Amino acid sequence: MLPESENIAIYKKSLMDQSFRDSVATITKEGNRNYISPQKPKGKMYNVRSYFSYFYLVLFFTLPFLKIGGEPVFLINILERKFILFGKIFWPQDFFIFAIGLLTFVVFVILFTVAFGRLFCGWACPQTIFMEMVFRKIEFWIEGDATQQRKLKAMPWNTEKLLKRGAKIVVFFSLSFLIANFFLGYIIGIDEVGKLVEEGIFVHFGTFSALIIFTFVFFFVYLWFREQACLIVCPYGRLQGVLLDKNSILVAYDYVRGEPRGKVNEAGNGDCVNCHACVRVCPTGIDIRNGTQLECVNCTACIDACNEIMDHIGKPQGLIRYASENNIANKEKTRYTWRLKLYTIVLTALLSFLAILLVTRADVSARILRTPGQMYQNLPDHKISNLYNIKLANKTRRLIHLDLKLEGLAGEIKLVNQVDVPRESYFQTSFFVVLNKEQLKARKTKIKIGVYENGLKMETLSAVFLGPSL
Ligand code: SF4
Ligand code: SF4
Repeated sequence: MLPESENIAIYKKSLMDQSFRDSVATITKEGNRNYISPQKPKGKMYNVRSYFSYFYLVLFFTLPFLKIGGEPVFLINILERKFILFGKIFWPQDFFIFAIGLLTFVVFVILFTVAFGRLFCGWACPQTIFMEMVFRKIEFWIEGDATQQRKLKAMPWNTEKLLKRGAKIVVFFSLSFLIANFFLGYIIGIDEVGKLVEEGIFVHFGTFSALIIFTFVFFFVYLWFREQACLIVCPYGRLQGVLLDKNSILVAYDYVRGEPRGKVNEAGNGDCVNCHACVRVCPTGIDIRNGTQLECVNCTACIDACNEIMDHIGKPQGLIRYASENNIANKEKTRYTWRLKLYTIVLTALLSFLAILLVTRADVSARILRTPGQMYQNLPDHKISNLYNIKLANKTRRLIHLDLKLEGLAGEIKLVNQVDVPRESYFQTSFFVVLNKEQLKARKTKIKIGVYENGLKMETLSAVFLGPSL
């Protein structure tokens, strides 16, 4: 073996040629689609990921059916601007909470990525789970491993090819249809999707059209587009270049141990036997030995493949493993860096703020406007009245009866209707505020109106009361 410093120098020199970054494995030199047929992964990491994906899939297909108080636990209804998270309904009026929630999520993603790289992509991204753990497995089952897939591709259209390709298309399309149903269930609610089945496509043509569009999108992605979603489309992957540093934990090749690569047990060689097993299993078609690359989704398939080779040649496992650049090059332990500490402080502050906003969130939001075009009205007994409109949003699942009271001012509120706001609805009504002329010190008087439910103040609103010029 060469001294470590020499290994690093040789490896870094070999990386001077960065031409591998000039192309993507999924596109040929002529610009055509190059299908990658990775070898079927097997090993400890793959097994753990498989178990995790089963749990994930059960959750994905169960969540739309779970309800709290008759409402789904999760709903992201962009069309009706209604969002339910953990059974709590959020309205456009809660935009501020949503914005803070989004900001917290972004900081969490940054913190997570700085520390663990693309761990999310490999283990929890729906695209990877469905592609690698569902559709790819079905493909292996129907068409066989990589070599058989390539053989099938090269053979003329005979019965075997027709049957296998036909079966794949039918199964892929059916699964895409199933996923589209559930995906739509997360947007409009699974009950609405169910109505489509019960009441027919002509009654719910909009839902049906969305279902068909989503089905074809998923079918296109999993049959043809595949890993390109991670390489070309996903913005998260693009962020890696600015978020990762030398302390980020990634799927990495230990070049100190592995270089120079060559025949096993040959004097001067490192542990990498240049067998390309790690490249053959890679679903994005890269060679992890070239270092961190945008295309790596941290799927761990290369870890398993290399571990198997290490077992075979009697060397310790972990030539490819989760490690940071500093772990490998400088033998440093994983550190909690100042950058991580800073992000943690910001994240903690945001989480606390978000918690306060959620706990103090009012069940009702109200807005008062003076009725347009209306001045003041003179009443008997030196009294003056103003007409107002009030708009209310009931964010709860119960009917709310409200009272309006003038705050800190003698006077009267006359309601046009009872303020009964139906559950999860908007409500609008009008009311008069009546004051004595003596109470007015100027043409415009600021007044405060309390909104009460069962004697408990929900909100205080401000308004302007108009009177005659003094
Ligand atoms: S390099 Fe390894 S971890 Fe990265 S995508 Fe390829 S097989 Fe997966
Ligand atoms: S699988 Fe391991 S030994 Fe084989 S080429 Fe990859 S890194 Fe080298």
